[in-house]
Amino acid sequence: MTHFDALSLAPALLKAIREEGYSTPTPIQAKAIPPALEGHDVLGIAQTGTGKTAAFALPTLHRLSTQPAHAGIKGPRALILAPTRELAAQIGESFATYGRHVGLRHAVIFGGVGQGPQVQAIRNGAAILVATPGRLIDLMDQRLVDLRGIQFFTLDEADRMLDMGFIEPIRRIAAAVPAKRQTMLFSATMPPEIRKLANSLLNHAVEVAVTPTSSTVERIDQCLYAIERARKVDLLAHLLREDAVKRAVVFTKTKHGADKVVKRLRAAGIPSDAIHGNKAQSQRTKALDAFRSGRTPVLVATDIAARGLDVDGITHVFNFDLPMEPEAYVHRIGRTARAGASGVAISFCDNEERGLLKAIEKLTKANIERRPLPTDMAVLPKPAASEHRGAPAHGGSRGGHGGGGQRGGKPAGKRGGKPQGNRGGSHGERGQSASAGGGTAVAEAPAAAQPSRHNWPGYRGTTRRGR
Ligand code: AMP
Repeated sequence: MTHFDALSLAPALLKAIREEGYSTPTPIQAKAIPPALEGHDVLGIAQTGTGKTAAFALPTLHRLSTQPAHAGIKGPRALILAPTRELAAQIGESFATYGRHVGLRHAVIFGGVGQGPQVQAIRNGAAILVATPGRLIDLMDQRLVDLRGIQFFTLDEADRMLDMGFIEPIRRIAAAVPAKRQTMLFSATMPPEIRKLANSLLNHAVEVAVTPTSSTVERIDQCLYAIERARKVDLLAHLLREDAVKRAVVFTKTKHGADKVVKRLRAAGIPSDAIHGNKAQSQRTKALDAFRSGRTPVLVATDIAARGLDVDGITHVFNFDLPMEPEAYVHRIGRTARAGASGVAISFCDNEERGLLKAIEKLTKANIERRPLPTDMAVLPKPAASEHRGAPAHGGSRGGHGGGGQRGGKPAGKRGGKPQGNRGGSHGERGQSASAGGGTAVAEAPAAAQPSRHNWPGYRGTTRRGR
């Protein structure tokens, strides 16, 4: 196995790599870095979690620090395009980390926030631009960024950019970058459109690939519960309370679904946040920070929002809804088992999702282990927001927010972790789900459904709830 030292990277980069605790390059790094250092274009087939960011960031930093700039042209010298704000931010952080002894500035450009600070970062002499295509085009149209000095051009997660409709912006951006450049394109999958895009942007590229599914997937302990839709959230809460769950990502099909799950979990005293495209950038950043720091151990996300999410130490991935495309299953569960760690992936499958499950098992060439439903799974209280009619009747046995906080249902999400105010909420839900869950239809939810937030294993502190 190659050691990083054998890769002829600049000493300043090797130092940063050592400080990060990396000893050996991952397969995609071992394959992509040598040709990239020699100046070849690279077509990399690799998914998130394989170490592909360093596979392009390290050679880019190396060549930036060893090659002269285009004569007479100021402005950024490296451009990395990424599909989402989160991924762009993470790539920016990787450049900061790996490049910390190199002394090159970078700027991260994405939409949804004011452009002022980003423009300022470019003006301050950023050598590296990490951008989502939309905002970059905006800045180009306003003549606030000049790409004529770009020597190193990378497209990350090209297949996702294509899915998100960025093909035209990418072509425009590529046309604004000098033809004399080094180009790298990374993609998890290689459908014909990506092949076509690669052919038009790359020049005699060296193609490197890491086996997409098996290597990551094999380390992940996967299982599946057949469960009807209405009880998924009860099962989720039940499983989230297990000690082994330290940091979990829960995938839902829709943004609305993600919000709903968060509301229900919070009402049950399980700190959680949602990230998806409808959230303001500041909310997403806040949620991600809280997740990274461990303050909020459960993140509920849609596929697109979670794309590129790079957080170490995710112990569990839950497929609350099965993904519509089987490949997404592999991407999702790859959130755990990062960089050699092992992880657990738990999927819920209702009747209507059986076809999706079949497609997943066909793709991964494996049967996911079925588990019987836990017998002691409690029914969660329903949050105040959707059941204001009955809520005040129960008025929380303690806790100063009793019935007072119920107006308009709005406080429901914010009152997460205060389950006692929601005790009555299970009624409406029970009415619907009685057929499924067994048990008496309108019995008050048992004690286990009213946990104090202190039951949450990864949750420390008693007064920290964001309100
Ligand atoms: P990526 O696929 O670029 O999102 O990287 C996945 C994770 O692997 C990140 O958390 C990196 O910090 C980590 N990582 C990247 N390269 C290595 C390496 N050679 N050794 C150990 N961890 C790594």
